[in-house]
Amino acid sequence: MWRYRELLPVAGEPTVGRQVGFTPLVKADRLAKRLGIRELWIKNDAVNYPTLSFKDRVVSVALSRSKELGFKTVACASTGNLANSVAAQAASAGLEAYVFIPADLEQGKVLNSLVYGANVIGIKGHYDEVNRLCAEIAGKYGWAFVNVNMRPYYAEGSKSMGYEIAEQLGWRAPQHTVIPMASGSLLTKIHKSYQEFAKLGLISESRWRIHGAQATGCSPISVAQKAGLDFFKPVKPNTIAKSLAIGTPADGFYSLRVMKETGGHADDVTDDEIREGIKLLAECEGIFAETAGGVTVGVAKKLIAAGKIPAGDSAVLCITGNGLKTLDAVVGHCGETREIKPSLREFEALLDSDFKLAARS
Ligand SMILES: *Cc1c(COP(=O)(O)O)cnc(C)c1O
Repeated sequence: MWRYRELLPVAGEPTVGRQVGFTPLVKADRLAKRLGIRELWIKNDAVNYPTLSFKDRVVSVALSRSKELGFKTVACASTGNLANSVAAQAASAGLEAYVFIPADLEQGKVLNSLVYGANVIGIKGHYDEVNRLCAEIAGKYGWAFVNVNMRPYYAEGSKSMGYEIAEQLGWRAPQHTVIPMASGSLLTKIHKSYQEFAKLGLISESRWRIHGAQATGCSPISVAQKAGLDFFKPVKPNTIAKSLAIGTPADGFYSLRVMKETGGHADDVTDDEIREGIKLLAECEGIFAETAGGVTVGVAKKLIAAGKIPAGDSAVLCITGNGLKTLDAVVGHCGETREIKPSLREFEALLDSDFKLAARS
């Protein structure tokens, strides 16, 4: 992503996360067929470096800038992925890290912070309470909180995802981009990235629509968008998409404005639809996304079915995190292993039984 360093807010050369970004943009023909759209692409940040989510982008910028400003300790308020990336990139940069997370996060997300030696503090409450506490701590301790006092740098890092999409499409903005929303920051910054590329003459001033995706169990922005409102009502989150569970989204207002200005839409999906979205992406494209990816696929399916993304158009879905970190959400929902003794006879008996191996091929 540092090929775009002139458009990112660091003074000198980046010092943290130089290998982050330029993840694959995959043409998803099988999924396109299932969703009923002419052309579909997956921007796959599930394989971002080093911690398998889009947050590696924002952390690379925030920590490079933190080092320039002389900070020795970094911190964050996180729904999981940010904590993983801060912990990992702080470790490699030799910085002390404090990460604050809701205490009930998925095991995978917790372990992926602890393993790097970060100080992990589980707060008994929702992300919104974690965030409020971190604002107090940031005011009192001289730490670089990547999404509190360093948030402007953090947020700009998200633009790199949009720059890459435009470059990988052959220097054009996609007609439609579907983006999962937690605070809403990523959505606004992908729009900004296309605007900047258009201003610089790197892409044409074509029209693009920005669409937002949320989980029904935490959908303050999508509910407001569907009602045609310019503002949202805070909610108490209850969803398996924990990475998106922000009830009071900091950039909710601006997300609504971007969707309105570009003619985009928002929608939300239930926990079952999220699991279905995860399986659809996995079975069609061989990509295992976390719950946020299930949200994006599920909402794209709804928007296409409703004609809000026309079937004759082309769309990019932003897949932002890896399924191996949210196994809790799909355990028991993906079928079962069939166990046999190591004998050909047993295998053939299995094939003849209700096991539909042959039928699936
Ligand atoms: C943080 C995150 C997002 C989006 O976050 P914003 O606060 O809206 O920028 C999307 N997907 C995943 C997996 C995330 O961790």
